Amino acid sequence: MTKQQIDWKQFNSIRLTKNFMLKEFAVTSANYGEVKEEQAAGCLEYQENLLHLCQFILQPLREYIGKVTVTSGYRNPVVNRIVGGSENSYHMRGMAADIITDENMSAFMYIKRWKLYTELILHKTFIHVALKPVIKGEKLSYSVLQDKTK
Ligand SMILES: [Zn+2]
Repeated sequence: MTKQQIDWKQFNSIRLTKNFMLKEFAVTSANYGEVKEEQAAGCLEYQENLLHLCQFILQPLREYIGKVTVTSGYRNPVVNRIVGGSENSYHMRGMAADIITDENMSAFMYIKRWKLYTELILHKTFIHVALKPVIKGEKLSYSVLQDKTK
């Protein structure tokens, strides 16, 4: 893989939605000293997918439940291998995130109520969620998200 030139100042300033910055999706538990550039480059490459993930799931969840911490967002293939991710992991396309909230069970139930996810797993300490692939031209409806009465 060729070394990519990342303009860190610019990269660190990219905001996806009100409470989510692009750089939050470059984090990983893997020791990524050597692949940091690749993580950032991947975030830029899949920025649109990450934006959708925020718009349709993470930001509404943030507004519902409070602080949402991303522990793993985009993963380049090296990182994905290190953390033992599945071969076709949605993380590698910026379509999935592992998140922690103060109330993971409530967060899980909230995401579960609408049908915009393709993967939703409540782990012991975090939630894995992957957004339904957005088909070009298709408009995802999230009116149900705004229904907080149920
Ligand atoms: Zn995951």
